[in-house]
Amino acid sequence: MSRDALHAEFRRLHRAPEPDVVRPLLPAARLGPEREAVLARAAGLLAEIRAAESDGWVNRFLNRYRLNSSEGRALLGLAEAFLRVPDRETADRLIRDKLGEGDWGAEGASESLLVNSATWGLVVTRALVREEGGALKRLIARAGEPFVRTAVGAAMRLMAQLFVMGRSIDEALKRADAADYRDFTASFDMLGEAARTRADADRYAVAYAQALEAVGTGGNPRGHSISVKLSALHPRYETAHAATVVPYLVERVGALAERGAALGVPVTIDAEEQDRLMLSLQIIEGIAQRPALRGWDGLGMAIQAYGKRARPLVDWADMLGRETGRRVQVRLVKGAYWDSEIKRTQEAGLSGYPLFTRKAATDVAYLACARAMLAADHIHPAFASHNALTVATIAEWAGASRDFEFQRLHGMGEGLYERMVREEGFRCRLYAPVGGHRDLLAYLVRRLLENGANSSFVHQLADTSVSQAELLADPVERIEAVGGSAHPAIKLPKDIFPGRVNSSGLDLQDGAELARLTTAVGRALSQPHRAAPIVGGMAMAGSAQPVRNPARPDLVVGEALTASPADVSRALALAEAASAGWSATPVATRAACLERLADRLEADRDGLIALLQAEAGKTLADALADVREAVDFCRYYAVEARRLFEPQLLPGPTGEANSLRLEGRGVFATIAPWNFPLAIFLGQTVAALVAGNAVVAKPAPQTPLVAARAVAHAHAAGVPADVLHLLPGGGAVGAMLVADRRVAGVAFTGSTGTARAIARSLLADDGRPLVPLIAETGGLNAMIVDSTALPEQVVADVITSAFRSAGQRCSALRLLLVQREVAGPILEMLEGAMDMLMVGDPADPATDVGPVIDAAAQARLNAYLAGPAGRIRHQLHVPASGWFVPPTLIELDRLEDLTEEWFGPILHVATWEAQELEQLVERINASGYGLTMGLHSRIAATAATVERLARVGNLYVNRAMIGAVVGAQPFGGEGLSGTGPKAGGPHYLPRFAVERAVSIDTTSSGGNASLLSIAD
Ligand SMILES: Cc1cc2nc3c(=O)[nH]c(=O)nc-3n(C[C@H](O)[C@H](O)[C@H](O)COP(=O)(O)OP(=O)(O)OC[C@H]3O[C@@H](n4cnc5c(N)ncnc54)[C@H](O)[C@@H]3O)c2cc1C
Repeated sequence: MSRDALHAEFRRLHRAPEPDVVRPLLPAARLGPEREAVLARAAGLLAEIRAAESDGWVNRFLNRYRLNSSEGRALLGLAEAFLRVPDRETADRLIRDKLGEGDWGAEGASESLLVNSATWGLVVTRALVREEGGALKRLIARAGEPFVRTAVGAAMRLMAQLFVMGRSIDEALKRADAADYRDFTASFDMLGEAARTRADADRYAVAYAQALEAVGTGGNPRGHSISVKLSALHPRYETAHAATVVPYLVERVGALAERGAALGVPVTIDAEEQDRLMLSLQIIEGIAQRPALRGWDGLGMAIQAYGKRARPLVDWADMLGRETGRRVQVRLVKGAYWDSEIKRTQEAGLSGYPLFTRKAATDVAYLACARAMLAADHIHPAFASHNALTVATIAEWAGASRDFEFQRLHGMGEGLYERMVREEGFRCRLYAPVGGHRDLLAYLVRRLLENGANSSFVHQLADTSVSQAELLADPVERIEAVGGSAHPAIKLPKDIFPGRVNSSGLDLQDGAELARLTTAVGRALSQPHRAAPIVGGMAMAGSAQPVRNPARPDLVVGEALTASPADVSRALALAEAASAGWSATPVATRAACLERLADRLEADRDGLIALLQAEAGKTLADALADVREAVDFCRYYAVEARRLFEPQLLPGPTGEANSLRLEGRGVFATIAPWNFPLAIFLGQTVAALVAGNAVVAKPAPQTPLVAARAVAHAHAAGVPADVLHLLPGGGAVGAMLVADRRVAGVAFTGSTGTARAIARSLLADDGRPLVPLIAETGGLNAMIVDSTALPEQVVADVITSAFRSAGQRCSALRLLLVQREVAGPILEMLEGAMDMLMVGDPADPATDVGPVIDAAAQARLNAYLAGPAGRIRHQLHVPASGWFVPPTLIELDRLEDLTEEWFGPILHVATWEAQELEQLVERINASGYGLTMGLHSRIAATAATVERLARVGNLYVNRAMIGAVVGAQPFGGEGLSGTGPKAGGPHYLPRFAVERAVSIDTTSSGGNASLLSIAD
């Protein structure tokens, strides 16, 4: 196949239905006459693994502690976090937290932490060093908390030592020469998380370069290699940054490879997330074509069989080898990120998964790829697996050939490969992690998860209830038995919510999609846009004001007309007249309007994104999120309305019929902010509509164009023209609305001050009925970080929470509270990550932070930054023109120094002491705001404490604190942050309705016939 044909095939397969991808792979994966030999070999391997003295530490661990047991989870949690905790207080709390759970083994559970710890220490030590009664046990026996802490630390270090090949490359090389390893070559992996900062990336580059030099010393007689992760070498290894990242990584990794070629050390590029696959191919191709590397056989890449594009990737690698005069080293793996890939795809609402959902499908793909690799002329195959059946199949297929290698992870598969290597002359390479204890842990957890999953071979091997026949079941037969269908438990992203279709997303990591979207956005903006008051379906006249693009105020996006007092009055009159009829319309009819509206929004997604970008200064990702949320609101409230608005019969004494029903209140005014011009504007409006109200909707003065387009869609979807009216304008229009006695309810999102003013107006002592106000206002949202948190994860979530949407979300992080002991390194990493943010025009897909909404917001925020707020710790540069505010990190002495919500890309930071967690939460509560709060901690008891004490509407643990999903994270605050109920939650719609109960005495017309007719 040509390069173009292969790329077309990648596109076709990427999210294709699973049967379409896996079925064509079956013939190549099928066993023929060799079946008996394969099964015999596999059974032999199993026997050997089970008999082996050293079947690998992971196997032992999994044997002892199933990952789905509380002990397994607790140990995993402890292993992941313990060694990075610098302070005793938190370390002890972590130990108590983790070892307090579960049944610690043969000696039985104990009330005593000490005995639990001792049992645990013993078990782990025994598993690790295979000796009993070691120093660790004696140490624990003498006990006391410091001893336990020391013991746990020692056990963790032991564990780490077994799992890494060495703390440094020199140590690892020395170990690779030891007797245990003499039969294996190694590929050294310099451990670490993906780089978040330029400094991280530089550090990893140095580590790789040093590893090359060390391995290459003396001509690399053992033939070791190194493995490189591209994500470690650039903090923005993402499609939107392809224009800079690809040449940069071609240069950086190309230079490493050239050095590798000079020293005789092969370099393999690991496979990472599916999102990054196409980018990685561009980079690998760029490196392979460097003149100095042409013909060098040491360049390698990994292919993940769980990816739907795996099979043509083999052809791609072969083609690359042919074109560049080499055999490409191809390492075939099953893939390490299965769980996170599935989650990410669901979150992004994409049309299908890029990987298989059945383990057997991955096995089939693996075998099909393996067969193709063995037959390819320009591939030097490496098969990485710990699965006896997979390995046996390949060994049989290979026959007498030894022109390939197997690979295994250090600490795993020792028993599996021992005899094959020693007696049959197969070659096997170890994937050998190198690094300090701290860096090991994330790696370790990934390995344990991927191999500890129920479906994994290593897990099943450890499970004595799994028979040999099950372990060696033919994946081809398994797939045939289900027709290649996807796993029923893993629903497509559109189907994850019961009763409604999830909003569909766009794959912003797909270069072709990005290019298409950029063109579509440009086209949509070339048309004129206009927002006029829409009253009774008619556009009203008036004087027009230009609407400007916040990133380029010289660009006029369209024009907007302000509603006049006459427009307001007429809209209210029409709405009032229409409301009873609309309330009497069957709820199913109203709900269907919302569902049609959702479909229309999705059909017009490109146009809406274009307007959201140009009018509200939103980045592509933020504009897409706004559209998706609006769609979700429509569909969610439609489902909710059907559930809630059918009359309910209520129980009571015999002889009466009791019922309760919800009905519209009359006319609702919805007053929306500019930060979600579509989602919040429409969310409030459709909730009021589906509850049976007529609505007068006032968008923010900054974003009338998006609102006008939304209202046009609503009318086209069937909402009657006299039921929904659009009244663009500023505060004066809002004031007219809320002061009018015809308004029976108000839904408002905006500042606390305006909410108060509305509340006062609604309480006017003029005989007006008591009118409900549903208000969502701002917050002083804090995130608490303790010393067990993973810094890389904290930094990523802080960047998202504080700077995405240029900080213009009510949920945005305003106040980062980091435990003192870890503040230094976390803030340093945060500053480095801030430096990698692109601030600019959101029309560029690479932009992370766009402008603020208007010149007034810019002036207010800049005045704050120029004032005595606190010490500016870090600040970015912004474009000179446009309404930009520099992303800024401000250090405060005390958290109480932040008294006001600054609605922009400004993050405050303060520190706290480990023993003050409870007081800290109370101090945050004392601000009176209660919208969102974040917590990063690995201690479940800490999360429970914060959950118990925090007076906030939305608490987010170990994740970013923005991006609430409709129906999954109902959103809204308390105290100064809002009245509730929560948008996108089950209690929202009833607040828009009146409740009417009817009780009928059914005996009044001649006795209790139903009672009398009961048979005896
Ligand atoms: C030397 C070496 C290098 C490696 N390099 C990489 C790399 O660059 N990139 C990378 O991603 N991984 C890499 N890995 C990790 C590798 O992907 C895992 O070790 C491997 O998946 C385990 O497969 P197995 O054949 O040993 O076990 P098996 O138990 O046979 O397979 C387990 C695997 O099956 C897949 N799987 C599990 N459940 C499902 C499901 N429901 N649907 C579909 N598939 C499922 C997953 O990939 C899981 O890891 C490497 C491994 C080795 C040994």
